[in-house]
Amino acid sequence: MTPHVVILGCGFGGLFAARTLAGAPVRVTVLDRTNHHLFQPLLYQVATAGLSAPAIAAPIRAVLASQDNVTVLMGDAQRVDLARRAVLLEDGEQIGYDHLIVATGAAHSYFGHDDWAPHAPGLKTLEDALEIRRRVLLAFERAERESDPARRAPWLTFIVIGGGATGVELAGMFAEIARHTLHGEFRRFEPRNARVVLVEAADHVLTAYPPELSEKGRAQLERLGVTVWLGRPVTGVDADGVQLGADRLAAKTVVWAAGVAASPLGATLGVPLDRAGRVIVQPDLTVPGHPEVRVIGDLALIPSHQPPVPGIAPAAKQMGRYAAVSILNSLEKKQPGPFRYRDYGMLATIGRNKAIAMFGRFQLSGYPAWLLWLVAHIFFLIGFRNRVVVLVDWAWAYWTLQRYARIVLGRRKDI
Ligand SMILES: Cc1cc2nc3c(=O)[nH]c(=O)nc-3n(C[C@H](O)[C@H](O)[C@H](O)COP(=O)(O)OP(=O)(O)OC[C@H]3O[C@@H](n4cnc5c(N)ncnc54)[C@H](O)[C@@H]3O)c2cc1C
Repeated sequence: MTPHVVILGCGFGGLFAARTLAGAPVRVTVLDRTNHHLFQPLLYQVATAGLSAPAIAAPIRAVLASQDNVTVLMGDAQRVDLARRAVLLEDGEQIGYDHLIVATGAAHSYFGHDDWAPHAPGLKTLEDALEIRRRVLLAFERAERESDPARRAPWLTFIVIGGGATGVELAGMFAEIARHTLHGEFRRFEPRNARVVLVEAADHVLTAYPPELSEKGRAQLERLGVTVWLGRPVTGVDADGVQLGADRLAAKTVVWAAGVAASPLGATLGVPLDRAGRVIVQPDLTVPGHPEVRVIGDLALIPSHQPPVPGIAPAAKQMGRYAAVSILNSLEKKQPGPFRYRDYGMLATIGRNKAIAMFGRFQLSGYPAWLLWLVAHIFFLIGFRNRVVVLVDWAWAYWTLQRYARIVLGRRKDI
């Protein structure tokens, strides 16, 4: 019988595993809880009205349509039963497998303070991005209705918690919206005076980068008008702002970009996890005692791999490809070598003409790094149409300083 490979999650890892199995002598089922593959690196552009949602996502069914050996199912995996080699879905359905690739990624972690979540949404899905965009744009609308400057101030204060790549990108874009996009559109206040504060518990932003580059990142942020607070752990978040020890920062819009927790599906495997809930896998990405189960991407931790594999898209793609190839090897009774991550460098953008980049020991910042970031993101987007749409939208935004995706539906509950 043709072996059945089940892939849970069609993010970067799952998609690249499925693509690698094109034409192989296996039957593949790809299961995802959404109907789209999402290009997460550009989510912040949707959250800041620079791009529309469909520009950074593609229907999984369409992406894999030409692969005859792949069936795409939409559903939520609740549990993996290793003993019975079956995946259990939320509606009770079961999917049996011969080989399983678990690629369900990660979500936000509020470090045990889940009550902060309604006041400080994180950025992981398209729904999150649209919610952040709604909160930001409607805060400006609410500020225009407020005649008392003291009561208006919290509506014009935007706090981003967490100075990693996502926090830096969001803070930089909020500042650009206030400084450029909305300029001249309001009568009761000057949008340029809006306050954007980036709060980070560590003593520098972009901690994945060497200190010189992260310092350049901070300087570029401040040039955009962002206030950067370092070494300030957040101790409370509520509907009216953020508590930092004894200090209080009043704000009606707070975004969470601080913590990541692995997909809860990992815990159902019943194998050891690290503190963030990542599944501790063997050097060949299988779980102990189950050579037919592989865990990849943000959900996997390979303790034997030094330096550690970063939680970024290229790592998930490489693991996806490796997992697929090693399944095909195992069908031929071949033993694969251990997974090795190939580091092609890292890029983070801060705003218009501002970015940092690192390729081994080679470092770049400012305009050249931004240009490289732009080209890389267009190149790696899934779908030709999406590449064209994003290119046109960015060119338009670059020359006009406008962000066109500003139509919001629904309300903020607190307005
Ligand atoms: C805002 C943001 C910005 C980022 N920017 C960058 C960047 O600039 N560069 C970079 O390299 N990396 C970036 N990353 C990280 C990168 O996106 C991740 O490392 C990568 O997506 C991990 O791939 P994955 O396949 O493990 O998981 P994901 O791509 O997250 O895919 C997981 C998939 O599983 C599905 N899923 C989850 N749970 C279930 C379930 N129970 N049942 C069924 N389906 C499920 C989800 O719907 C999703 O499609 C960013 C991440 C975020 C959130």
